[in-house]
Amino acid sequence: MNIILLGPPGAGKGTQAKRLEQRYRLVQLSTGDMLRAVVASGSTLGRKAKKVMESGQLMPDDLMIQMISDRIEQPDCARGFILDGFPRTTAQAEALDTMLKNKGLKLDSVIEMKVDPEVLVERITGRFSCATCGAGYHDRFQRPKVEGVCDVCGGTEFSRRADDNEETVRARLAAYREQTAPILPYYESQGILRTVDGMTDIDDVARQIETVLAAA
Ligand code: AMP
Repeated sequence: MNIILLGPPGAGKGTQAKRLEQRYRLVQLSTGDMLRAVVASGSTLGRKAKKVMESGQLMPDDLMIQMISDRIEQPDCARGFILDGFPRTTAQAEALDTMLKNKGLKLDSVIEMKVDPEVLVERITGRFSCATCGAGYHDRFQRPKVEGVCDVCGGTEFSRRADDNEETVRARLAAYREQTAPILPYYESQGILRTVDGMTDIDDVARQIETVLAAA
């Protein structure tokens, strides 16, 4: 099963992708995570990516398309994958179709996670994660049970994404509105777009996605 999770930054794509990985034994392919790994490597490309990501703009299509094309050829993707953060432009969506066709693969479902734009800035600027195991938290909505200690692994170091500040978040939301939202009609016309309500709690969104996939 090959799935796309589509929605603005802060819609909960990463959280739901991790649930789907476990539930259906799929692989989460997050282009944001891939880029953060490149940034951490300190390479020339990493330095360029850091600047673009901190500005809230998008990386060039050809680079992102190549990155995903290489990744889905890895053996762990054979059972299926969840695309999280890709495609983000119409050019990426069209290239994905061609790439999948050439590899004899297809998309089973494109799931739009619909959220009220008003809540996104607070959702994003409050999030942080365990530096050891990556478990996600939020200043207001999901604090660790014991202050300063990760519920999952007991780690005591936490980190925040450099692009989760208000100014960058506003630019990321504008990029979504202008460059990514126009992809929705593209998938709608293919008859594979399904929409879930991303404003409810994490378990409920997961149930809605399961219902969509059961019918796919
Ligand atoms: P994300 O973790 O998905 O919010 O992505 C973080 C940042 O990485 C974005 O704001 C973009 O700068 C960049 N990025 C991630 N995925 C893509 C993509 N498919 N196309 C272009 N830029 C991307």
